[in-house]
Amino acid sequence: MHQDGHFYERARRRMIAQQLLARGIDDSRVLEAMATVPRHLFVDSPLRRRAYQDSALPIGEGQTISQPYMVARMTQLLALCGHEKVLEIGTGCGYQTAVLSHLCRRVYSIERIPSLHEKARRNLRHARCAANVMLKCGDGLLGWPDYAPFDAIIVTAGGFASHAWMQQLGIGGVIVMPEGKAGVHRLVRRRKRADGAFDEEYLDDCTFVPLLEGVGHR
Ligand code: SAH
Repeated sequence: MHQDGHFYERARRRMIAQQLLARGIDDSRVLEAMATVPRHLFVDSPLRRRAYQDSALPIGEGQTISQPYMVARMTQLLALCGHEKVLEIGTGCGYQTAVLSHLCRRVYSIERIPSLHEKARRNLRHARCAANVMLKCGDGLLGWPDYAPFDAIIVTAGGFASHAWMQQLGIGGVIVMPEGKAGVHRLVRRRKRADGAFDEEYLDDCTFVPLLEGVGHR
């Protein structure tokens, strides 16, 4: 057990240096959060020793935990200071949720697959990141009107923004998501202006699992 701890801590440090710092992640709060969150606790035990490798990994139900760099990149694009209310669509295993929990006031995260929703709840508790996290099983396309407006929204499945998200984003708030049709996504960041219009920036090409409608099993 003790030796395992060393293994994961070294792997995590290497991930920070080789995958994040070397590729331009420079928000010190993001780097600190990713140096703190035990990513291996969010991956099922057969794959655990690969938790810090430079790739996405399966988490069950045909879904994946995003590559560390992509988690860092999207989180950095949110430019969080610590006081924000953040909506996350696509909880998956809860890793991105855990990173966000270190960087903002409260995270509201929605997952459409019941077994992953439950898995994320267990993982977040185990990793001691649950205190400022609210999880919901449902269709994230509807957002979470009870807690709107949000200062930031992050979508971790690829598709097109829903009207509900754009409405539930507060003035000055940012939404970061992989946009596009199946398999060909582009990261986009939009900021809501005081007049209700959006400034938008198209960024990296990427590939995510698809954003799907309704509650389901796949
Ligand atoms: N951030 C997660 C990524 C998981 S993959 C992690 O690091 O583990 C994306 C997740 O989005 C999947 O679990 C998928 O089931 C979920 N998803 C897709 N469409 C959704 C929707 N409409 N509402 C909520 N979750 C959705």
